[in-house]
Amino acid sequence: MLILPDDFQPASLPAADIEGPAWWFVFAGSELLVRLTFAGVELPVASRWPFAKWPPARCLYLGMLGDRPCHAAEVVEGSPPPGLRFESLRGLWARLDESLLGVAGHALQLIEWDRAHQFCGRCGTPTERLGDQRVRYCPACGLEAYPRLSPVVMVRISRGREILLARAPRFAPGVYSVLAGFVEAGETLEQALHREVAEEVGIRVRNLHYFASQSWPFPHSLMVAFNAEYAEGEVRVDGQELLDARWFAPENLPALPSPMSMAWRLIQDFVARERDR
Ligand SMILES: [Zn+2]
Repeated sequence: MLILPDDFQPASLPAADIEGPAWWFVFAGSELLVRLTFAGVELPVASRWPFAKWPPARCLYLGMLGDRPCHAAEVVEGSPPPGLRFESLRGLWARLDESLLGVAGHALQLIEWDRAHQFCGRCGTPTERLGDQRVRYCPACGLEAYPRLSPVVMVRISRGREILLARAPRFAPGVYSVLAGFVEAGETLEQALHREVAEEVGIRVRNLHYFASQSWPFPHSLMVAFNAEYAEGEVRVDGQELLDARWFAPENLPALPSPMSMAWRLIQDFVARERDR
């Protein structure tokens, strides 16, 4: 799963005595700069910005991964030096070290936040950094812009030995997943979940149980996953938001979403439970 590693200590300013090699998470758009090696892919490592002729548009200190500092940067023009190239985070799953990929997800969200809040959203004044806080501050009107998180509820609905999986138009061919939807202003997670299930497949569920959560940096979601039991109603889809939804037994699962995702973990947990039953 894509997750920030436990030995990562976030900070917006480096400690004064930090020296030595650092990891560089360099983005162009949402793609990460990697070096191709015989063994796979690596990140650039250097104590300072490593590409003198290729200046970054922005740099952010991220914190420490173990005993090594981490920096995020964005480049907006020019192309990578020989031996390096930009790749999507999804494409780097199982190729780049899992801890580094977790920090890269964090870095991508902060780069996008910094890029989107250079000017105050209320009065248009250029914003500033504020001490050691992860905030863009407007000196004219005082507005503070923190990195945004958009909560998404996700639910695995079970009925006996089966789970409900659905297919949305944006999915890769053949892939089915659990239901998910954004929480709207004023809703609790539980209300959002019941509303999404009713809207998307027309059924009711009961016995909600929290499962786990995951940051999903495309661009700034927080996935909050639940298990629930089918209660009543006939499954139907509108053909637009969802193309299909069906009950699947563990031995008959369709193609599933990426192992980076919370959906994958929810479905694997179901398979493991049914196997051990
Ligand atoms: Zn302002």
